[in-house]
Amino acid sequence: MDDCIFCKIIKGEIPSTKVYENQYIYAFKDIQPCAPVHVLVVPKKHIESAQKLTDEDTALLGEIFKGINEVARITGVDKSGFRVVTNIGRDAGQSVLHLHFHVLGGRVFGADFG
Ligand code: AMP
Ligand code: ZN
Repeated sequence: MDDCIFCKIIKGEIPSTKVYENQYIYAFKDIQPCAPVHVLVVPKKHIESAQKLTDEDTALLGEIFKGINEVARITGVDKSGFRVVTNIGRDAGQSVLHLHFHVLGGRVFGADFG
């Protein structure tokens, strides 16, 4: 997708702070962190949101969560715990229409998802 900011980050056309990368995913620090650890894990394939995943993406979803666990290990929150969030659509506040998973850690989160 030519006008997608995360596709541009994956291609290196927009700078980012890389945390981890493999053939399926790219992980980088969120520019406006909500926690001491706030990393975005995105598939290299452009998919608008989790709602647009198809049967073809089943294996990719597994790779994404393997990547999330790798990011947790790299950032040192694998033992303390971490939160994984993906926003879908307007009411959830999805601002970038390229599937991404927020990996948040390094502090204690409340039960309020507000
Ligand atoms: P969401 O609101 O769930 O769509 O999340 C989009 C996230 O992307 C927000 O947390 C932004 O801070 C983050 N973001 C937007 N542009 C960039 C960028 N150039 N580099 C890193 N993170 C970004
Ligand atoms: Zn994209």
